[in-house]
Amino acid sequence: CGIVGVVGNPNTTEILLSGLKKLEYRGYDSAGIYVNNQEGHDALIKRTGKIVNLQNAITNADQGLSGIGHTRWATHGEPSQSNAHPHFSQDRRFYLVHNGVITNFAELKQEYLRDVPFQSDTDTEVVVQLIAYFASTEHLNAQQALQKTLQLLEGSYAFALMDRQEPDKLFIAKNKSPLLIGLAKGFNVICSDALAMLDQTNTFMEIHDGELGVLTKDHIQLFNLEGQTIERQSYKVEMDA
Ligand code: GLU
Repeated sequence: CGIVGVVGNPNTTEILLSGLKKLEYRGYDSAGIYVNNQEGHDALIKRTGKIVNLQNAITNADQGLSGIGHTRWATHGEPSQSNAHPHFSQDRRFYLVHNGVITNFAELKQEYLRDVPFQSDTDTEVVVQLIAYFASTEHLNAQQALQKTLQLLEGSYAFALMDRQEPDKLFIAKNKSPLLIGLAKGFNVICSDALAMLDQTNTFMEIHDGELGVLTKDHIQLFNLEGQTIERQSYKVEMDA
């Protein structure tokens, strides 16, 4: 299973697919991407089986300037197209990919989302519906709604979130599942393993457990779950000759 993301590159779809292929070794049963061209056009494509199935389902129209991709290793809900990620909120505002397991998803669903129709059987969908729920009922922006949601979650996660209202941003968070930020020329990326993005950059930045990140094409901000800013240096991955 794995996660990739791109913000600020016209070849986003291609970079996501190539990154997902490099994560194939981690194992998966389905794969999907969400891309947004930042001018009102977006696309969500998911397929079971090999990455090539996903690749064949993508058309020339499915391009974006930012996007997220996922390979799934099912833990909650059988391997299927509707259970594949990215998952989305009922208002189709938020799109989320997740590696890991949210152990208290059933309690959260019961407490906050009893009236919300669900599209999948995954623990992950509860998270994206919860983000949308807090954004709309408490008038929070994506970063605030994500932070509030993270404070309620138990379990493991690497998340990448997109908001149709702020398509020039990637929102990320990590707890006990791998996730890295890659700093490229004129754009930024994320990945579960640096090897997925070594074609794009050899400069990376860690995000630690219990942190939230906000990325644009030329800016990276990290916060703890209380909203305080965290400073972090980037580092270079040396390539073996
Ligand atoms: N628990 C999530 C699911 O079953 C994520 C699985 C994964 O890490 O790929 O959909």
